[in-house]
Amino acid sequence: MRVVTPKLSIIDRIYIPALVKGLYTTIKHFFMRRFTQEYPEEKRKPFPGYRGLHRLNKDHLGRVKCVACYMCATACPSQCIEIEAAEAPWKDREKYPVKFEINTLRCIFCGMCEEACPELSIQLTYIYEMADVTREAFVRRKDDLLATNEFWVLKEY
Ligand code: SF4
Ligand code: SF4
Repeated sequence: MRVVTPKLSIIDRIYIPALVKGLYTTIKHFFMRRFTQEYPEEKRKPFPGYRGLHRLNKDHLGRVKCVACYMCATACPSQCIEIEAAEAPWKDREKYPVKFEINTLRCIFCGMCEEACPELSIQLTYIYEMADVTREAFVRRKDDLLATNEFWVLKEY
């Protein structure tokens, strides 16, 4: 294919109009509303309904609310929830989870687990800061998930 070089007019060749146009754009943006944020010093406020890090809720006695029914693990499209149930030491329920793990590297934060939970035990918080240095750290265990509860309340996102 033959490339045709466009012919430049005199105005194009002196570059001044293009320079003025460029400067006008720069100056215009200088006075416009700023969209950038000084992260991490300045935190972004997530939109309502944002689905971030999971937490496991506790009941009024401080026990894990989860009754190890496996509904969340069954509904999870990524199959990243691992639960091990055991007989509950309390009279008001049959089972509780001795092991509850979520592999957040596989999770797609769809919220299906939260939707499926009949006990309002598992919930997705507004926490979006989850960077870490090892793969192992992304597997969030029962204690981490229960601790997220307090962390979330204190953090006031
Ligand atoms: S948010 Fe979705 S992918 Fe992540 S654990 Fe829950 S159901 Fe699974
Ligand atoms: S978190 Fe909810 S859905 Fe998942 S096992 Fe516990 S009670 Fe069932």
